[in-house]
Amino acid sequence: MMRQYMEAKRACPDALLLFRMGDFYELFYEDAKLAARTLGLALTSREKGADAVPMAGFPHHQLESYLAKIIAAGFRAAVCEQVEDPKLAKGLVRREVTRIVTPGTVTEEGILDPRESNYLAAAVSGDLAGLAWVELSTGRFMAGAFPASQLPDQIARIAPAELLLAEDDPLVHSFKRAALGQPATTPAGERAFGSGPSGNSAAAPPGGMMITCRPAWAFAHQSAQKLLAKHFHTTGLEGFGFGDQPADVQAIRAAGAILDYLTETQKSSLEHIDRLIPYSVAGTLQIDQASRRGLELTHTIREHRREGSLLWVLDCTVGAMGARLLADWVANPLTDITQISQRHEAVAELVEETRLCFDLREALRRVYDLQRLVARVTTGRATPRDLSFLARTLAQLPAIKAKLAARRSQLLARLETQIDLCAELRARLEAALEDDCPLQSREGGFIRDGYHQTLDELRQLARGGKQWIASYQAQQIQRTGIATLKVGYNQVFGYYIEVTNTHREKVPADYIRKQTLKNAERYITPELKQYEERVLTADQRAKELEYELFVELRDAVAAQRTRLTQVAAALAELDVLAGLAELARRQRYCRPKMVSEPVLEIIDSRHPVLEVLEPQGTFVPNDIRCGGQHGTIMVITGPNMAGKSTYIRQAALIVLMAQIGSFVPAKQATIGVVDRIFARIGASDELSRGQSTFMVEMTETARILHTATAQSLVILDEIGRGTSTYDGISLAWAIVEYLHEHIGCRTLFATHYHELTDLHKSLEGVKNLNVAVREWQDELVFLHKIVDGAADKSYGIHVARLAGVPREVIHRAREILAQLEQEHYDNQGRPKIARKRPTAAMVQLSLFGPEEHPVLEEIRKLDLDSTAPLAALELLHRWQQQLRSESR
Ligand code: ADP
Ligand code: MG
Repeated sequence: MMRQYMEAKRACPDALLLFRMGDFYELFYEDAKLAARTLGLALTSREKGADAVPMAGFPHHQLESYLAKIIAAGFRAAVCEQVEDPKLAKGLVRREVTRIVTPGTVTEEGILDPRESNYLAAAVSGDLAGLAWVELSTGRFMAGAFPASQLPDQIARIAPAELLLAEDDPLVHSFKRAALGQPATTPAGERAFGSGPSGNSAAAPPGGMMITCRPAWAFAHQSAQKLLAKHFHTTGLEGFGFGDQPADVQAIRAAGAILDYLTETQKSSLEHIDRLIPYSVAGTLQIDQASRRGLELTHTIREHRREGSLLWVLDCTVGAMGARLLADWVANPLTDITQISQRHEAVAELVEETRLCFDLREALRRVYDLQRLVARVTTGRATPRDLSFLARTLAQLPAIKAKLAARRSQLLARLETQIDLCAELRARLEAALEDDCPLQSREGGFIRDGYHQTLDELRQLARGGKQWIASYQAQQIQRTGIATLKVGYNQVFGYYIEVTNTHREKVPADYIRKQTLKNAERYITPELKQYEERVLTADQRAKELEYELFVELRDAVAAQRTRLTQVAAALAELDVLAGLAELARRQRYCRPKMVSEPVLEIIDSRHPVLEVLEPQGTFVPNDIRCGGQHGTIMVITGPNMAGKSTYIRQAALIVLMAQIGSFVPAKQATIGVVDRIFARIGASDELSRGQSTFMVEMTETARILHTATAQSLVILDEIGRGTSTYDGISLAWAIVEYLHEHIGCRTLFATHYHELTDLHKSLEGVKNLNVAVREWQDELVFLHKIVDGAADKSYGIHVARLAGVPREVIHRAREILAQLEQEHYDNQGRPKIARKRPTAAMVQLSLFGPEEHPVLEEIRKLDLDSTAPLAALELLHRWQQQLRSESR
């Protein structure tokens, strides 16, 4: 048997092998030790002494809960089953690895979070990187190609549980390095890295991504193409929109690797994966990985919890499908005004029609996870209970469809048409299935009486066929004339005919005597024995027939897969829209007006998450005005804890909410559609990350400067804080200048560097804001109100005074401050930092007027008529000197 074990282990060396032995799954050797450590199993041993083999195990019915633990600990598991009946086996029972369970391929209901998607992804590097991803529990399969630099962001957007890479792909190296805590240039930088028990690295924690290396051939274009076409029963992949462009080739290579991996690990039907959907970034608001994280869209930074994230606030869905779709919307906000407005229109209608929204949500609450149900049906994993849940879901459709009839908004009208009642299928399932169905399909007891005649007869028989016995008895009484003749049953002899001794001579010759009692004899007849035979096998036959009927029903459902999938999509979307409407009503959100000009005008805006977390009514609303006539760059100053970070994040979150189709927490909002959101959160604001962060901060800043466009929204929080003050200020200054002159995008910059408030003196589009604070009875009161202008620069000194620092010190500090400030400005009263600027920028800027070079003004003012030639030459010399010294 250990030889059998070794063989199985050799076939899947990097998985924990769960070896079925009787009622237990056992692990041996290193696997056992690892399981003892990480799963809390007791370590025992097989054999004693020198031959001792470490062993650990658990009862077979706990398989699912242990699989969950194994996956959560970042490992994969190979399930090795007994594939023949031990009672019938000659010698050793045959065993086979029937499945390899990995983080990206789990489908067990008990392991998956119903409200979260679980993706398996594969990536191929190159100038154009290929990326494909699949959700095995629903069959959704997508692929696309991206410039190499975008790949990490795309991976972060999908957040797969597992990523496949070719073993020789350079990405493998960078992921490994990132996992070891070196500067994060890849998504794994923030996730730990697991490669299974035989790998050399730590297990992935919950929320982490497992990297799985695959042989290079699994990513070869030719074979990928062939494998996919064979799977989809098509001649090529053009039908799905994949040709032979380089981008398509890369996408297909990644998709092929996924299918290959699934075939190897699942060893079961993948029929539900019935198409490959091309993904393109066009039409999607791009958010890089760091911004996604910094804005806490789906998880908080510190605790990596869903609670406290934007998604947590937005999610008012009542069903799992809705919850997953909403997460998808949050990961992929739109950029097309028409599409966005359609969603707003639908939400608006649902907000106004309170009753409609309420009724829809009530109906949707009774809807089951149709997507995963259909996938289980298609792959043959469905239970009778799944089918009955499917029927109950279909039963909700007529009411939902009726509610949606004659709706104003286009989107709701479209969803109405998408809801196909599937009436025949529903009728069939309802007629066939009991109200409460079991999980087992082979134990019977789920088909209704009256659905199938033979089944009814078998059940009758199995229950002892009272009617048949009664009529047989009556018939025998008539035939023999023995009025007291009885048909009975006992364990030993089965069915018999009992005749008291008084009537013994009337017994017919064909009765066979079986047993003699004190005053009666018991007989059997061939007819009775034949009947008995049928009764005894009836139960078994009924179960078999039920299973056949179950398979028929399951196939009938599978045949309607396409229609059901479409219905499921409509139900999910409806749930999301109704959830957004519910939220909008509850939190008094407003419908944002979407425009194409790059502006933001949000009146009385609130932070969507903080306003929920803070005691009700205490959050102070603020206006956000940026872009167009308001200026493009807002520099926000104010003391620590004033509310700077809150304000700028609020702006980004509101824009994002608007672009997924949600209403926004404000009294009124005009939002110019944004193509990208960048959120750079300063180094010291995320100490918890515990790595050298200044490099990270600058890497991310570089990306912003390279990729932001005039349609982007940039929020910068305390940038430059990770280095010395002068370094920091200088960098921050130069970055703002660059954004101002080369990009011109809407930017909100929160900083505690007071010096930066001088930026507005030299850059026209820069505007100062600060957060109001009051001193009240020797205490600081944060008003959290954003007002125009720079913060009071001696703010720190105020605080020191309030804190009781001796008067002399305060006095001296004021003196020093004044002196520093003096050094800070040139004799024209302008900040020295601003003075020396690149000539090109200067010339460009002079077009705006006020910030032109002073020499120009002098030339303009010069009265040539009254200037002697020598004096003119002198002037010319002085100007030249001045300009030369400045450009040096
Ligand atoms: P800063 O970045 O200026 O140091 P934060 O934005 O981090 O300050 O805000 C500090 C705290 O102040 C927040 O955690 C929140 O509790 C509170 N706060 C911020 N803005 C508001 C507001 N508009 N209304 C009420 N409380 C706020
Ligand atoms: Mg802050």
